[in-house]
Amino acid sequence: MTSATSMPATFDVQRVRADFPLLARSVHGKPLVYLDNANTSQKPLAVIEAMNTHYREHNANVSRAVHQLGEEATAAYEGTRDKLARFINAPSRNELILTSGTTQATNLVAYSYALPRLKPGDAILTTVMEHHANIVPWQLVAARGGATVKAAPISERGELIVEKYLDMLTPEVKLACVTHVSNVLGTVNPVREIAKECRRRGIPLLVDGSQAVPHRPVDVQALGCDFYAFTGHKMLAPTGTGALWARREHLEAMPPFFGGGEMIREVRFSGTTFAAPPHKFEAGTPNIAGFVGMAAAIDYYQSLGFEAIHAWEQQLLAYATERLREIPGLRIVGEAAEKEPVISFLIDGAQATDLATLLDLEGVAVRSGHHCAHPLMQFYGVPSTLRASLAFYNTREEIDAFIAALLKVRQLLR
Ligand code: PMP
Repeated sequence: MTSATSMPATFDVQRVRADFPLLARSVHGKPLVYLDNANTSQKPLAVIEAMNTHYREHNANVSRAVHQLGEEATAAYEGTRDKLARFINAPSRNELILTSGTTQATNLVAYSYALPRLKPGDAILTTVMEHHANIVPWQLVAARGGATVKAAPISERGELIVEKYLDMLTPEVKLACVTHVSNVLGTVNPVREIAKECRRRGIPLLVDGSQAVPHRPVDVQALGCDFYAFTGHKMLAPTGTGALWARREHLEAMPPFFGGGEMIREVRFSGTTFAAPPHKFEAGTPNIAGFVGMAAAIDYYQSLGFEAIHAWEQQLLAYATERLREIPGLRIVGEAAEKEPVISFLIDGAQATDLATLLDLEGVAVRSGHHCAHPLMQFYGVPSTLRASLAFYNTREEIDAFIAALLKVRQLLR
């Protein structure tokens, strides 16, 4: 996505941090150390200002007005679609549906693609490491269609057992699903290899890209999947933004999921005809200002370049992993060979929630809990983990502060 020439020689993290006003604040009298990026990322000024400017100068509804403001708002909204299509190398802007996030995207596929195709005995394949957004929608439609949801296993290290996944791609599987990157383990899954096999067997593949798009360039054509869902708020964009990319043949065959304004060609009581994709799937007034912010988020990523981002984040991941491993009684959950900067861990004799609460008092924001991945917690036999998730605006000094705080609060719990 970015050429080597656009990559800065060194990653100037302090300059980058200056673009994120929130990172300068303190929490409980301590400098904030924000390590909950897999939950939601902070937003650069460029995103905040783009939304402000939209409301101050261009606010109107999209597609409905012929007046100047309506045209400006529509151009901005549709401009984000163009930008997103290029961002993930979609073959056409018309294959990109703007959604409120990954959850809306997977539900759209569940109700509009899967449900009409499911018959008793059919199955949907997912994995043990998925977020609930890539499990529960399939369970809901499977129950209606008399189908089942199967989950491919993972290893103790937190890697998908790919041979098992491929073995489970049997003829009754009508849709295969996998996360590109695990939100709990950081594991990067071999999506290309899986997609190739799915294609060979004629089974469409949905990829949950929520935790991939903030960290690496995504090329849906190179991946070879059929559906790619992601959420904006983890990639510097506002909450309530996201997208579903789907191959045109699927979108054309799919009935609409939500009905209402904007998605029709003509409405009659004798029968309604629908707009072509993507508008067929975008009923009602969208999060226009949010998508204006999302365009600024994409520009921001591209100004840094994913090569530089990836190199820096991988350095941080290696450093944080090394520092955590020095702590006696600490166990990292998820040690895949290829990871994005997400580290889940447990400490002997201490509850994850207690640790996270005490860390907050030290200014360190990490997440504790099941991370919307109950089946993964069941696999590891734990109710919760602590999770530190990094972004390119984090520093080694923040990791040092986090480790120092962790050592301190662990003492308190002894
Ligand atoms: N999938 C994964 C892997 C996630 O990490 C998340 C958010 N935690 C989601 C899906 C759901 O995203 P959203 O809540 O933005 O729809």
